[in-house]
Amino acid sequence: MSLSEFDIIARYFAQATPGREDVVLGIGDDAAVIEPPAGQQLVVAIDTLVAGVHFPLDTEPYDIGWKALAVNLSDLAAMGAEPAWLTLALTLEHNDEDWLAAFSRGLADLAGQYGLQLVGGDTTRGPLTITVQVAGYLPPGQALTRQGAAPGDEIWVSGTLGDAALGLRLMQGELDASSSASEELCRRLNRPQPRLALGRALRGMASSCIDISDGLLADLGHLCAAADCGAGLQYADLPLSSAARQLIATDPGLGELPLIGGDDYELCFTAPASQHAAIRSLVTQLDCPLTCIGQIESEHGIRCQEQDGRTRNVSGHGYRHFNESN
Ligand code: ADP
Ligand code: MG
Repeated sequence: MSLSEFDIIARYFAQATPGREDVVLGIGDDAAVIEPPAGQQLVVAIDTLVAGVHFPLDTEPYDIGWKALAVNLSDLAAMGAEPAWLTLALTLEHNDEDWLAAFSRGLADLAGQYGLQLVGGDTTRGPLTITVQVAGYLPPGQALTRQGAAPGDEIWVSGTLGDAALGLRLMQGELDASSSASEELCRRLNRPQPRLALGRALRGMASSCIDISDGLLADLGHLCAAADCGAGLQYADLPLSSAARQLIATDPGLGELPLIGGDDYELCFTAPASQHAAIRSLVTQLDCPLTCIGQIESEHGIRCQEQDGRTRNVSGHGYRHFNESN
């Protein structure tokens, strides 16, 4: 180890991100000092990525840096918050300079897109683990939360579902696809784009909101549980990328991934039907695909009307393969 912890911080992190007016004191002291804008609420989220658990060991360091921040920004998006700054706790096995340079570029490129400043952190030696904490602001009382859906509300999702789970299988060599489909799906896994503009636009419009990190059924299940309700979905309405559509057509067993595959970082939200047109208009305003996939129902559980016309109860552990015959 030639580089000390302090060299690493100075070289790869201290100047990596833009400066902000609300940061009184950033990296270099015992703690950062922030002056939040008057009248705003502070919103904070944290997530850890462990090598081999949250990303394959052969993931590019640029992508690891990007994703460590992206998964946190997705949480702020789901709250409707405006992100502002972040801290980084980094545990490294080696002080490989090429790795550090690429990792910090991935993190800084995404931070730069949203004008976020890295204000502090911690650097230690051990099994590769990355913890990012982000903070942002919200006008009082405007947070989008998991609680608030009501029977009759429509259920919407942004983007497409199942891509990241297919990307993971491609990266692990469990699946084959054309090189363009493979590239597209692996990019969805490794470079998620947090839906921050959508989250902000949904303030006052959505009745509840969550980001899809563990799969649609699991995360929609949280919205239903918070509302003491259930949901009805139409499988045919689930938004799929053309790459996902092609793969599922050749192996129907993959058809469950849009329901249960994790890591898509899209938003799932509910809204009264009276908001339908306003939500539709966000598609062009924000250049963000939005699809209505079902409705909140008073009966508990999630029911999915599948392609064979049958309605199956798909919530809980009983759910296996989508096209299983019974
Ligand atoms: P202390 O021992 O007082 O906790 P450190 O020596 O760990 O301070 O850190 C020195 C400064 O560098 C602090 O401002 C800390 O927030 C920052 N820092 C440490 N590691 C990182 C990192 N990985 N990314 C950003 N800032 C870091
Ligand atoms: Mg100290």
